Amino acid sequence: MSETRIVVVGAGVAGLTTALLLSRIAKYNITVAAKHMPGDYDIEYASPWAGADYLPVSAPGTEAAEWDRNTWTELEKLARHSPEAGVHFQDAFKYIRNTDFEGSEGSALGKAMSSDPWYKDIVPNFRKIPKSQLPAGFDDGTCFRSVCINTAIYLPWLTSECLKAGVVLKRGVFGHISEAAHMHHSGQKAELIVNCTGLSAGKIGGVEDKSMVPARGQTVLVRNEAIGIVSCSGTDDGDDEVCYVIPRAAGGGTILGGCYQEGNWDSQFDPNLANRIMKRAVELCPSLTDGKGIEHLSVIRHGVGLRPVRLRGTRIEKEKINGVWVVHNYGHGGYGYQSSYGCSQAAVKLVGEALAVRARL
Ligand code: FAD
Repeated sequence: MSETRIVVVGAGVAGLTTALLLSRIAKYNITVAAKHMPGDYDIEYASPWAGADYLPVSAPGTEAAEWDRNTWTELEKLARHSPEAGVHFQDAFKYIRNTDFEGSEGSALGKAMSSDPWYKDIVPNFRKIPKSQLPAGFDDGTCFRSVCINTAIYLPWLTSECLKAGVVLKRGVFGHISEAAHMHHSGQKAELIVNCTGLSAGKIGGVEDKSMVPARGQTVLVRNEAIGIVSCSGTDDGDDEVCYVIPRAAGGGTILGGCYQEGNWDSQFDPNLANRIMKRAVELCPSLTDGKGIEHLSVIRHGVGLRPVRLRGTRIEKEKINGVWVVHNYGHGGYGYQSSYGCSQAAVKLVGEALAVRARL
């Protein structure tokens, strides 16, 4: 059987997961080409900055909820059977204040916080937290078994899995998406391109998706340990500030967040915001510092990442650009990991459909 040449543009969680799933189909010969690769830390590269946990924000009954549902199956398997991937189970505690939903839109995290979410039947041990066990100031709360992904281990693991399956990775910077067809490692033109360019889908020629906006997230990575993933529906510091604590697997430290600043491109960390993040985290999760102040946090690094938000929702579509089929898989906002397998499975399906159309012509 002749091989089909594919170039995946992007080596974030979307590009690498799509490449990995494509590599399981024997007839595909895959190159991943990207400006940034695992190991890089850059404001144009969202994936290393994520917490990252599984806390769906998709609306029930939508395609996005289906992608999240399908992703849980795979992340659960990794946490159970593949410790080398850097994904571990953690209890996720979500605390809700009624005041966060009164008279304002609520924070980005708060809007997604329901005490009766659609995913309660797929994650293990979903339960309401008894009022007596809620921290002071909260009205409601839930807990379930989730996973956290240590991105510093997981992105290299995805890369290794791709390499093992014969995928070739190359650096490349494209002004127009169709240029990627000439980056296949065989030296011959690719039959299909997969576009996993994240926020850059707003700029790259041939795509220029004007509904792409950044949602800036600032984090502090600390050595202190937490009891699990802890988050709450809002803060007293404005609707674009949020509070969450995510303990990463395998000595990865704990991520403290954060903010959700839509339209903000600033790559520099704000020290005042960092202080507020740490203060809120130790208040919400006192076990981080044994009930002591933020001076007892041991900081590894401050981080700033831009969530690649697509105002019209994640784009998984196919189209022909300059005579080459392009399958899009971008615009995953603050949920690129927790939707990664579902979205990539959908993209792989479109690759098959596009190539079938091509074969009939
Ligand atoms: P990116 O990781 O940005 O990768 C884009 C790739 O495309 C890069 O390799 C880049 O070099 C390449 N590229 C772009 N343009 C070009 C070009 N012109 N030429 C060549 N290459 C190009 N998600 C969760 O699921 N759970 C969480 O808990 C979570 N927490 C987060 C916390 C923060 C602070 C942030 C910032 C994000 C968080 N996210 C979380 C969201 C998640 O990180 C993103 O949705 C995800 O990383 C997007 O991945 P991506 O592969 O689409 O984009």
